[in-house]
Amino acid sequence: MTQIISIANQKGGVGKTTTAVNLSAALAMLKKKVLLVDCDSQANATTGLGVEKPGLEASLYHGLIGEADIQDLLLPTMLPGLTLLPANVDLIGFEIEMVSVSQREARLKQLLLPVADQYDYVLIDCPPALSLLTLNAFVASHSVLIPLQSEFFALEGLGQLLNTVKRVKSSFNPGLKIKGIVLTMFDRRTNLAQNVVEDARQYFKGLVFKTKIPRNVKLGEAPSYGLPVMLYDKQSQGAKGYMAFARELLKR
Ligand code: ADP
Ligand code: MG
Repeated sequence: MTQIISIANQKGGVGKTTTAVNLSAALAMLKKKVLLVDCDSQANATTGLGVEKPGLEASLYHGLIGEADIQDLLLPTMLPGLTLLPANVDLIGFEIEMVSVSQREARLKQLLLPVADQYDYVLIDCPPALSLLTLNAFVASHSVLIPLQSEFFALEGLGQLLNTVKRVKSSFNPGLKIKGIVLTMFDRRTNLAQNVVEDARQYFKGLVFKTKIPRNVKLGEAPSYGLPVMLYDKQSQGAKGYMAFARELLKR
């Protein structure tokens, strides 16, 4: 059965997009069929997979407003098992244009409906805000995966995120679950990172994945080549981290 997972945290720079791109690629390399949905107007996941944003004729925005069919939006990637639903800056307009439209929170769910069952996993890279786009992602999803940066203040704002999940659950999507918390940019040399891990484990117990994604320069470099880290440097700690994380997710 298809699993639709939102990758969300309203803080910017915590590793959502890095996780979305590299987890998608890792799952595809483990022979799963994966659709990555770029749900952020910054379109970093789109660029990270080597797609030129200005050259896009149609993107997620056109699907959400009903101007394009999903089949016309899907792009193949360098990995046979991985398909991309790209975004570009047009997506900014969605929030404003939808103000007076009914069922505006279910546009993404409706859009994905005809194709979702062709995939094992649909991963949605959310924007850094608890906005209408994130609401659409949560309404369309079975679960939410939360990347947590292993730094001071990591847990700040999480209450708000969890409350949003609760509200979506009671109003729109009763089955919505927290898939888990993944610690990103982990630096084993600092006590601080270790403290964040302990705090997160104390607070969220079994929800925290065992695999911690290490801080690794290759993860920062790979997007500028339009590649997931496994294709940029397979031996890097970043590539090994995301492969291990994908295996753990498959078991959960
Ligand atoms: P978000 O999508 O939450 O805003 P990103 O995934 O774009 O966050 O990450 C923010 C920045 O940190 C990017 O420049 C990215 O390349 C870098 N980054 C993310 N994860 C790591 C990591 N594990 N090690 C090193 N750099 C990372
Ligand atoms: Mg991002």
